[in-house]
Amino acid sequence: MRMVPRAHNEAIKRMGARIYPMNTGFIRVDKGAYITMGRDYGREVDVPDWAFLVADESERILIDTGMCETERADWHHPGSRQPEGHRIDERLGELGIKPEDINAVVFTHLHWDHCSNMKLFRNAKFYAHRRELRFALDPHPLYLKSYESKRLGVTPPFDGADFEEISGEYRLGPSMLIFPTPGHSPGHQSVAVETDKGVYVIAGDAVFSDENLEPDEHRGLSFTPMGRYVDVFDMFDSMERIFGMADRDRIFPGHGRCVGRRPVYP
Ligand SMILES: [Zn+2]
Repeated sequence: MRMVPRAHNEAIKRMGARIYPMNTGFIRVDKGAYITMGRDYGREVDVPDWAFLVADESERILIDTGMCETERADWHHPGSRQPEGHRIDERLGELGIKPEDINAVVFTHLHWDHCSNMKLFRNAKFYAHRRELRFALDPHPLYLKSYESKRLGVTPPFDGADFEEISGEYRLGPSMLIFPTPGHSPGHQSVAVETDKGVYVIAGDAVFSDENLEPDEHRGLSFTPMGRYVDVFDMFDSMERIFGMADRDRIFPGHGRCVGRRPVYP
């Protein structure tokens, strides 16, 4: 009698995690200030704004909830827009999923373009890093707008919400590892997802866009440091950590056009 290998049995028992990227709109940014550190200042580019659904046979978990409607987005970054059908619940609807089906939302960070409409998810636990939460509730004056601070007369999406606070690495379900990647923001975190085909990393804005996946010839680096950060050395270390965890085509930048090359991974 032939024995069925154990790994094979496991694969049959457990449908591996799958990752569905959802574009929630487009943000207009200065390329030098946000994407390519010190290069191409003054050149405006429109980048997509990704949220992700990670689904296996029992869990429906979101990584970020994406951006807001056009009027508010334009206030943040003139020229930004959320076309019809791009809001997070509309994106999920295309996959046959309702907001109440979501068990958990992991926030890479709490900038406006990653947590808008979060209160639609009334059955979900919200996960954020402790440092991010502290900073978001009382931001440095330079970051009042990024966190939609009440000091500007607006209400942030996370106002009054309950969070599960994370302070280091954190395992969520059988296939997800949340890990700290500070630099872009004080309590930024990224998510590694183990699938049947290997590890994918949902980087959030720890890797900002496509260009950051490319070598920086000028500095002799294997990746291109981005332009937007609260701490340049943390930013660099976090990028280095992410690039050590997965192949480049399995790293999803928070605002990378490359993410949209497939509707689902793996
Ligand atoms: Zn962002």
